[in-house]
Amino acid sequence: MLNIVLFGPPGAGKGTQSEKLIEKYGLTHLSTGDLFRKHLGEGTDLGKLAKKYMDEGHLVPDQVVISMVEDKISNTEGSKGFIFDGFPRTTAQAEALDVMLANNGMKISGMIALDVPEEILKERIKERGKTSNRADDQDEEKINTRIKVYLDETLPVAKYYENQGKYKSINGVGGIDEIFMEISEVLDSY
Ligand code: AMP
Repeated sequence: MLNIVLFGPPGAGKGTQSEKLIEKYGLTHLSTGDLFRKHLGEGTDLGKLAKKYMDEGHLVPDQVVISMVEDKISNTEGSKGFIFDGFPRTTAQAEALDVMLANNGMKISGMIALDVPEEILKERIKERGKTSNRADDQDEEKINTRIKVYLDETLPVAKYYENQGKYKSINGVGGIDEIFMEISEVLDSY
């Protein structure tokens, strides 16, 4: 089984690369941002709760995210493995993920971090905002908040996997296919 954490700041290209990886490796995509947006669209209580945080660019509380991921993992059968996209975003989430995977006889194979400079992230998010219909992609202040939250709360997660010898960083600037090839090489080495 291949269980990958695809890591990086907002706008790093995690969603784009995930789509290609799912197709090539037959993995299950688990994007917490996508799951929240689905709940939002369906108007569930979870969606309403998450919206307050998402609209401001803040993180949804750990326990809410962790329960949602637990639910998704236990309701996915016969998977070849998962690509975790946008999760874990705090060290507490990373610890909880290790526990829930171990409970299901699984573990993280590795984390792949997409490295993209801040100025390029901002340009990409603004460009995506023209078509994504995402409130959090439209406003400069919210974009800045999300990047700050990433630096303050999410970046320590890279250290968590580095300490386990599972961290690999890749240059996330360049052609989509070129970056995909580099990620594939890392995956093939697991
Ligand atoms: P994303 O699509 O990954 O950029 O996520 C959009 C928003 O959903 C984030 O800005 C957070 O408000 C929320 N979110 C997604 N994943 C998480 C997570 N793992 N922990 C906390 N909040 C999350």
